[in-house]
Amino acid sequence: SIPLGFFGGIGAASRNGILVKGSNYLEALNDVKVVVFDKTGTLTKGVFKVTAIRPEDGRTEEELMRLAAIAEAQSNHPIAESIRAAWGREIPTEGVDGYDEVAGHGIKVRVDGSEVLAGNAKLMQQANISYTAPQTVGTVVHIAEAGTYAGHLIIADEVKDDAADAIRALRKLGIRKTVMLTGDAKAVGEAVGHDLGVDEVYAELLPQHKVEQLEKLEAAKSPKEKMIFVGDGINDTPVLARADVGVAMGGLGSDAAIEAADVVIMTDEPSKIAGAIRIAKRTRAIVW
Ligand code: ADP
Ligand code: MG
Repeated sequence: SIPLGFFGGIGAASRNGILVKGSNYLEALNDVKVVVFDKTGTLTKGVFKVTAIRPEDGRTEEELMRLAAIAEAQSNHPIAESIRAAWGREIPTEGVDGYDEVAGHGIKVRVDGSEVLAGNAKLMQQANISYTAPQTVGTVVHIAEAGTYAGHLIIADEVKDDAADAIRALRKLGIRKTVMLTGDAKAVGEAVGHDLGVDEVYAELLPQHKVEQLEKLEAAKSPKEKMIFVGDGINDTPVLARADVGVAMGGLGSDAAIEAADVVIMTDEPSKIAGAIRIAKRTRAIVW
């Protein structure tokens, strides 16, 4: 039987905007020693803005943006939303087909019979397209058309207001290690990790590599120590499912993420992780 005190703990959590799906997860939160975060949408706002447009091969900024907007017309990735917002007009659909979103890479689509690619360096490498290294730190979206490099966009995201506090509060609660996993470029991941005081950063990870990295972190700790993963559910649902306690951001997160998670933070604030652990510790003190 479940001790009554647990219901009090789950109730206290829910009054704080933290949905805990079972007393076993509240119990596990007591023993958390390692906290692993996804970057985009979890520690950062996931609200990107296009900050630079760098066309090449004789194209205008308008032409490059048009290709980018067509490619990103259907994606629900925060990068895609920023490109649609920067375009700010209706996106042409005529002559567009064969849409293919490649997780952790970007988009492939056919426009008037030519293949258009919009995504990161890995996507360009796969297609053997040589690209220009950007001069600015930021998330890069390279664009290619019919096998030719067309230029790139720089997209910037901001850290959430409470992200640094969230990391500090965890350290105060005796969390031994904080980790950030990201599919984004190494330079971007390391800059954000350094700003926030995260202990370890693993960047340029595909969704399946995030699971592998989590397993390595799991193997490196004692089984008594619990590890939680905190994500927004865009491309990280398998990682959420694999962690001792999977925590999803409920506001930005997809239904699939909310389904796969053990704990849902309704307000999207990473500082609520420390809040959940504090409630778990208080609950344990009452139950025993
Ligand atoms: P993260 O949440 O850590 O940024 P994702 O797996 O969501 O990881 O994305 C990893 C990378 O893949 C992004 O940083 C971006 O470079 C590229 N990418 C993913 N989706 C898109 C998209 N729709 N358009 C362009 N690039 C994308
Ligand atoms: Mg993400």
